[in-house]
Amino acid sequence: MKIAVIGGGPSGFAAAIKAAAKNEDITIIEKNSKVLKKLAITGNGKCNYFNEVQDISKYHSSSKNLEVLINTTNIDKVKDFWDNLGIIPYIKNGYYYPFTNNSNSIITSLIAKAKNLGIEIIEDTIVEDIIKIDDKFLIKGNNYNEYFDKVIIATGSLAYPKCGGTTIGYDIAKKMDHKIIKVNPSLVQLISNMGIEKYWNGIRCQVKVTHIESDNILKEEYGEIQLTDYGISGICVFNISRDISIGLSNNKKEHVIINFIPWYSGLNFQEYLDKRSEKLKITNIINLCEAFINYKLLNAILIKLKINQDTNWQDLSEKQKKDFCQNLLHFEVPIIATKGFDTAQVCSGGINLEELDLNTLESKHVPNLYFCGEVLDLDGDCGGYNITIAILTGIIAGESC
Ligand SMILES: Cc1cc2nc3c(=O)[nH]c(=O)nc-3n(C[C@H](O)[C@H](O)[C@H](O)COP(=O)(O)OP(=O)(O)OC[C@H]3O[C@@H](n4cnc5c(N)ncnc54)[C@H](O)[C@@H]3O)c2cc1C
Repeated sequence: MKIAVIGGGPSGFAAAIKAAAKNEDITIIEKNSKVLKKLAITGNGKCNYFNEVQDISKYHSSSKNLEVLINTTNIDKVKDFWDNLGIIPYIKNGYYYPFTNNSNSIITSLIAKAKNLGIEIIEDTIVEDIIKIDDKFLIKGNNYNEYFDKVIIATGSLAYPKCGGTTIGYDIAKKMDHKIIKVNPSLVQLISNMGIEKYWNGIRCQVKVTHIESDNILKEEYGEIQLTDYGISGICVFNISRDISIGLSNNKKEHVIINFIPWYSGLNFQEYLDKRSEKLKITNIINLCEAFINYKLLNAILIKLKINQDTNWQDLSEKQKKDFCQNLLHFEVPIIATKGFDTAQVCSGGINLEELDLNTLESKHVPNLYFCGEVLDLDGDCGGYNITIAILTGIIAGESC
């Protein structure tokens, strides 16, 4: 069988490598001048490709049958795939990176394996259309026209277009009668307009973030937040950004509550500060809190509350003390937008899984047409889950060809 894999990302490579077990003529067609361009920048160039913690709650889709894809058997196939590729992991808090801490180790291993298996890799070729003619597929691109028996679409999502994100996968799927679940940026920075962002720009600190949508608590995350001149970022923010992005696209009111003192478990923080001030004999409000809150952040909060930073804690009114504590424990950030597809790591939504046979990832509408990777309505949390989706679905599609 002559098989075309459209897209030279991790899902395309996994599909081609697996398909090579039963087929001799396999071609990966990639629009960039180099394959695996997005993989190169993952995990800040270190490529966090897997996670020890495997739970279906880390994966998201509108499909009710996700466990047909995300299950122990298939996750074990992903582990075997990396083992067979010879990748030696460096594991930090359950997060897997190549031992070199460099995504190049993964890239060169994938390319070497594909070449060993005789897979042809064509770069600099944009697939523009796929036409079904009898039992063949005509693939049309810039200066490219070729017939294939089977096609695997692994073109990724709209996220991070600098590295290849396009709509082509969705366009071809739509043309062939598949439904696309609305695509939104996910694992993305969040924008606010409180007017104080410029004062906290550049701060990183450990916090608890809570996503509130129209007065309902939807999700809580702990971790390092990055406070920026446009709003908030960081892994804990990325992990709540999916629902916020979808909510905003449905005109919902989205808020993030930041607890800047997640280490405090007492009931009355105002009383704690009263006692701290007495015990340490510190009166100035900044000096009183600087041991546990970044100076710039304290300053931003005081500007928001219109309190002079030279004020003594004892001289604040009861209301000012209450407001100050409230802002340390429950700092409310109204979210007006995300940074969008340009900087999003992945997208939620994509090709409706219900229209594919989830055991093979073959289209239920068009025999011999397969989909894998981020083009699907399937995405994961931060932590190696999205590359796992790419490899897992690539394996399933490739094995089925
Ligand atoms: C900054 C950043 C950091 C990330 N970090 C991590 C991380 O640490 N861990 C993790 O698990 N995930 C991470 N991700 C997400 C991860 O990179 C993706 O989920 C994964 O690459 C998806 O694989 P894919 O093969 O489905 O798609 P892609 O990697 O996007 O590959 C699709 C390929 O198809 C090609 N293509 C598109 N259209 C056409 C066309 N018309 N013709 C020919 N070729 C085409 C594209 O050029 C691209 O090379 C990160 C993403 C970004 C942007």
